[in-house]
Amino acid sequence: MLVPSIAALLSSVASTPAAGVVLADDRSPAGERRLPERRHLHERSMRGGGGTLFQRFFPRTPGEQPEVISSPLEHALPNVDDGGLGKAYTSVPEPPRKWDVCVVGAGLSGGVIAERYATLRKQSVLIVEKRRHIAGNCYDFLDDQTGLRLNLYGPHNFHTKLTNVWDYVKRFGRWAHYYHKKLAWSEGRFVPFPLNTETLNTIYDQHLMGANETAAFLAKIAEPCGPGGCSNSEQQSVASVGRAAYNQFYRGYTLKQWGVDPSQLDALVTGRISVRSDFDNRYFTDRYQSQPRDGYTRWMAGILSDPLIDLVLGVDWFDVQQRLAGRCGKLIFTGPIDHYFADSGLPKLTYRSLRFEKLAVLNIGEHGYYQPGTSVNYPEMAVPFTRSTEYKHYPGQPRSNHTVVVRETSGADGEPYYPVPNPRNHALYAKYKALADKEALKGVHFVGRLANYKYFNMDQAIDNALRIFDGLDRDSAPGRPPVKKRKKEHKGGAHEDALHFD
Ligand SMILES: Cc1cc2nc3c(=O)[nH]c(=O)nc-3n(C[C@H](O)[C@H](O)[C@H](O)COP(=O)(O)OP(=O)(O)OC[C@H]3O[C@@H](n4cnc5c(N)ncnc54)[C@H](O)[C@@H]3O)c2cc1C
Repeated sequence: MLVPSIAALLSSVASTPAAGVVLADDRSPAGERRLPERRHLHERSMRGGGGTLFQRFFPRTPGEQPEVISSPLEHALPNVDDGGLGKAYTSVPEPPRKWDVCVVGAGLSGGVIAERYATLRKQSVLIVEKRRHIAGNCYDFLDDQTGLRLNLYGPHNFHTKLTNVWDYVKRFGRWAHYYHKKLAWSEGRFVPFPLNTETLNTIYDQHLMGANETAAFLAKIAEPCGPGGCSNSEQQSVASVGRAAYNQFYRGYTLKQWGVDPSQLDALVTGRISVRSDFDNRYFTDRYQSQPRDGYTRWMAGILSDPLIDLVLGVDWFDVQQRLAGRCGKLIFTGPIDHYFADSGLPKLTYRSLRFEKLAVLNIGEHGYYQPGTSVNYPEMAVPFTRSTEYKHYPGQPRSNHTVVVRETSGADGEPYYPVPNPRNHALYAKYKALADKEALKGVHFVGRLANYKYFNMDQAIDNALRIFDGLDRDSAPGRPPVKKRKKEHKGGAHEDALHFD
């Protein structure tokens, strides 16, 4: 759909900013010039409300108007994409072919296990993937319209504290150092998120200078939970950042993301969002933070490149399960656990999903940008989406005269992305897990975020897959050394667990 002007395009987006809001698209909240070398096309609120949220841009040549085209992101999806491997089947090979290991799902979990069996144990592996591409939710591709590399299922930022995981991922491609930063757009201005000293100074009109002052200020505005601890996300957030910041940054975002009030969600949902008592505006504090230079799909192709791995794309396991009976030594299942046990009579687990809208901004110029950073959160209810990502800010992007912003809106229907952490789902998952434990006796193993109904960051998914391989491997060859227990549960900063603030 061609759209003649930004105002017309976005007139459907409601905007009700408070009267007298600060207009901050040229200057950072701290009063310094922001990214002076780049020109941005981004949103700006009207004083007194009533206008469109997006109305100002900086075309490369004066008088030249960029063209803005909006479409669902999945329309950009290319045909079958095995990341350049050139070995994907689109149907299961006929008998008498057999494999030592069959894997359902060509995402990180399935890919890592397949790679281990093929390269370390020289065993044959068949991967069956229902999507037409490899890499699971990390999948990225070059967009025909703009030449930029986009993630189909939301932006992915690699970060880890785990040296074994970092050593592993480096073996399959080049990585570019990258510190992810996030801004939140609220009351007409951009502020760093998660909240840090700069954010607190801006929203509370303070002049806090260091950790002690910030900590003392936070202690003053916080409303501590009772002696029993915080029992939900509202209490937890108010205890951490105070009522005003909760209302401004957490409440609306959580409502939009989860479809329920924070008072109805586990305290852990917001509990692991860090609050910084310094000016550090990196989103993650992990030691290793990088992006694959040639994208996640190419990098995953490296993981799957062993000739002992056969790959079938665009085929649902449940459609070929019968044809493969007796032809797989072991089965590794990385799909949703409740799909595997669909005949068990148990109710379904619930998930949150996302819809992605692609906004291509054409002819903005090679140095033209839409927003001041890669990622912007929108906590206000007046804005229907939760987050926008401008991929051109990522390292390793091809040069382009255009830019693309992808906006995310949450919902209950669609691809299962986020497990919903509530007592009903915890209890139900325990029942599925008991079924899965019995299935393990038949050589079926459940690996990954959908099979474990647990939000894994990429590094956690890799670590988990490596450890499961080690465990299975040791069981099949008892002489092998035991898997070392991890001393402390991995903590990954803001992006954790069921957090969804990824
Ligand atoms: C929106 C979003 C943003 C994220 N951002 C980050 C981030 O910034 N940093 C980070 O570290 N992590 C991030 N993650 C998490 C990351 O995507 C996961 O850690 C990773 O994808 C887990 O890999 P997996 O193989 O377990 O699952 P998946 O990637 O989901 O792979 C499972 C695969 O199994 C396939 N499958 C399912 N059922 C069947 C079937 N019946 N037959 C055949 N195939 C089947 C699926 O199609 C899928 O390809 C994000 C996740 C989401 C949803």
